[in-house]
Amino acid sequence: MMPLLHWFRPPRSLLTLYLAGAITGVVCLAWLAGRLLDQEQAVELQRAREQLEVAADRAVAVCQRSLNELERRAFAADGPLPPDTVAVIADRLSVRSRPAGRLVFVPVVAPSSDVPPGVFTAGEQAEFGKAGLANAADIYRALTRAPSRAVRAGALVRLGRTLRKAGRHAEALQAYAELARVDDVRIEGRPADLMAREARCSVLEETGQRDVLEREAHDLRRDLASGRWALTRAAWEFAFDEASTWAGAGATSIDGLDAAVALAAAADTLWRQRQDRPATGQALMRHADRPVLAEWKVEPPQMSAVLAGREYLETICRQVSIDADVEVALEDRDGQPILGRVSAARAVRTAADTGLPWTIAIAAAHPDRAVAEASARRRLLLAGLAIVGALILGSSYFTFRGIQRELAIARLQSEFVSAVSHEFRTPLTSMRQLSHMLLEGRVISDDRRGQYYEVLVRESERLHRLVERLLSFGRAEAGAGRYRFESLDAGDLVRTVMTNFQRHAGGWSLEISTPSTPCPLRADREMLSLALWNLLDNAMKYSPECRTIWVELTLDRTYASIAVRDRGIGIPPQDRQRIFRKFERGVQAAESGVQGTGIGLALVHHVVKAHGGEMRLESEVGSGSTFTMVIPMERTA
Ligand code: ADP
Repeated sequence: MMPLLHWFRPPRSLLTLYLAGAITGVVCLAWLAGRLLDQEQAVELQRAREQLEVAADRAVAVCQRSLNELERRAFAADGPLPPDTVAVIADRLSVRSRPAGRLVFVPVVAPSSDVPPGVFTAGEQAEFGKAGLANAADIYRALTRAPSRAVRAGALVRLGRTLRKAGRHAEALQAYAELARVDDVRIEGRPADLMAREARCSVLEETGQRDVLEREAHDLRRDLASGRWALTRAAWEFAFDEASTWAGAGATSIDGLDAAVALAAAADTLWRQRQDRPATGQALMRHADRPVLAEWKVEPPQMSAVLAGREYLETICRQVSIDADVEVALEDRDGQPILGRVSAARAVRTAADTGLPWTIAIAAAHPDRAVAEASARRRLLLAGLAIVGALILGSSYFTFRGIQRELAIARLQSEFVSAVSHEFRTPLTSMRQLSHMLLEGRVISDDRRGQYYEVLVRESERLHRLVERLLSFGRAEAGAGRYRFESLDAGDLVRTVMTNFQRHAGGWSLEISTPSTPCPLRADREMLSLALWNLLDNAMKYSPECRTIWVELTLDRTYASIAVRDRGIGIPPQDRQRIFRKFERGVQAAESGVQGTGIGLALVHHVVKAHGGEMRLESEVGSGSTFTMVIPMERTA
């Protein structure tokens, strides 16, 4: 029977196979996840590229819309112009700009104001002839009261000059101060009031009035920077340099001047090149490294233009990047950067493709962030995968263990059923035969009949014990709740069981040793007796040669130990734990053909546990075994 039943034991290699399957599953999962991650990375890259392309198209649209808007506002005078832009209308005689004064210098200036010929002849003759400077000053002073502003201004210029020559500096300064209040008059192409303020500075320098000079020069610089006078580029630069020299330490940098100069310079260049350019157009110009966008229309003799500086271009770039997380750079047609710089990974819209005056390059503003997000996702996925893998392996292992246990229980149960059937069959067979013989009157001799009756009694007792043992096992397994505890003396119990067992085991020698002192226990007499009986029964069953069993009751301070020793076949170390589980039989016992059901020791174990004690086993294969029930003694008050 055994070899057949062994078939149910799952081989170790099956476990290995099962786990190898699970590991292969996990490896496949990891491989798939790796592929997934690669694909996700590729999709991510593609998505990033598409985002850049969309942002680049949007940038083109924003630029075109902004330029159209600028053009409309500038040329149709529809609404205010954005910051850092100026609309210019120039002809040969004048320049108008919007907002007024945005141009610090202009391409063309108005001619000098008309003065009737010969009006200053007398004064100049006196100034440069023999009549003397005082005389000349009087003549000029008289003319300063003339009704014509141009004459008045011409007279004040000459008066100041004459007084200066005469060393009458204070009066000269006064004359210039008066001249500075005359506006809208140009002398020799230059504004009279500017000439007056320059002359004052010059006199103040000559007379060493540093404080006043610096203050006036500072104001002069500021007015020049605000585009107060219509001056040509050369005149403005000369005047501004001179004013800066006079201002000395006061010549601090002026906010927005560079931007204004760039716009004015662009207007100047545009005017001078108007013949060489198409009648309408737009271009990106550079002045002192500052980009200026220029759009123009030439309708001779007039030129209209709108100019926009760096601040305006930056506003456009900001509009592009405001929603999309991108950086924007503008480049000129030669690929030189105009505004901003972007990394290599970018989308480009060239000026040739878009018709814009610049090339647009777009790049992701935070490429590192995308990489960090991707690697965080990757880490998360890998962690999830590791957990799933561990779960698969763990659950596979436990499932396998469960299956293994189920199979083992099935095997044990099958063994148990076959063992029990066998144990029942042997006495039943002999009882049936004997009772038939007796019934049919085939046993004539009285002696024989007597012997047969004894056999019938013995076999029926054997059956009874077997059934009792099975029922008791059920009770023992149900736990301490089904026990009937009472106070008893362990010595009495051991002696009673031994006496009964001796009757059952005729021909066996039982050596008993109990202490003389009482040994109180709180125990279920019947169950504890049954446990001891089982140990004795086993000692008898598994000791084929030595027909002596030693039973020893010893007392510790709190424990009573009932040890049953034999000199039988012994138990190998690997069996010493499992034989206490139900249906488990020792390999040696099974192989040596000793009958058994595998519930005896399980019952003993349950009983001892229910009494709050423990089982101990010492054994050596071939030398014998000692089973000891260690049970706590009853506490006496
Ligand atoms: P069984 O009906 O097989 O005797 P038990 O539960 O009483 O079942 O014992 C379990 C196993 O323990 C036995 O099959 C045997 O291998 C081993 N065993 C029990 N008592 C002894 C003993 N005194 N000597 C050797 N082996 C023993």
